[in-house]
Amino acid sequence: MNLYEILKRLESVYRPNKDEYIVLHMISKDNQVNHFEILIGIVLSQNTSDRNAMRALNNLRRDLGGIIEPERVLRTPVETIINAIKVAGIAKRRAETIYELAKWFKSDEGIVNKLHMLDVDEARKILMQIRGVGPKTADVYLLAVLRKPTFPIDTHIKRVLTRIGLALENEGYESIRKKIVSETHNDVDILMKLHILLIEHGRRVCKARKPLCNECVLRDLCSYYKKS
Ligand code: SF4
Repeated sequence: MNLYEILKRLESVYRPNKDEYIVLHMISKDNQVNHFEILIGIVLSQNTSDRNAMRALNNLRRDLGGIIEPERVLRTPVETIINAIKVAGIAKRRAETIYELAKWFKSDEGIVNKLHMLDVDEARKILMQIRGVGPKTADVYLLAVLRKPTFPIDTHIKRVLTRIGLALENEGYESIRKKIVSETHNDVDILMKLHILLIEHGRRVCKARKPLCNECVLRDLCSYYKKS
């Protein structure tokens, strides 16, 4: 199946709102990208809505005195961090990851430049060594911020790709990621658009419980639709 055709159709119907995607919101905010803050935003957005993640991030910024930076995190009591981010859920575990990230950024001021220079597999490996940073967090950061060719897969994307027939029900994250990156020939712009538009499609039409197949621009391509 042609991913480019899927992308073309999704592009024809959706205009994603940057404020509904925490990463798009943060990278479009100003020219000065705060990599530490973005990584924390991505950590906060796992397994919760982007809206709750943004609320948690804003609370954290407020409680750190207006700027999210490693030094401020490291001198802030863990209870304060937990309290600030609790709106996003699993606050204790996320707070631990935020401390780990703060230590990691503090340990090497040039770490972002080093990641820039590495290829995507090496950069993923380094990020995923940080406790609490999984493949999805690493991939969102590497694709959206460092613009490296990888493909983060969340529950919406997995569901849509499985229903269309581009992923198997029990296919693992790595297998799907590699397949999509290879089919798009490592094109970062295409990967980014696909990432956002498949989430948008999963949120608005290909919903978990009741997909709105009659409104779907992909139905003639979709295995789930053909079977049902
Ligand atoms: S036809 Fe239905 S199941 Fe298939 S992608 Fe569209 S909404 Fe999802």
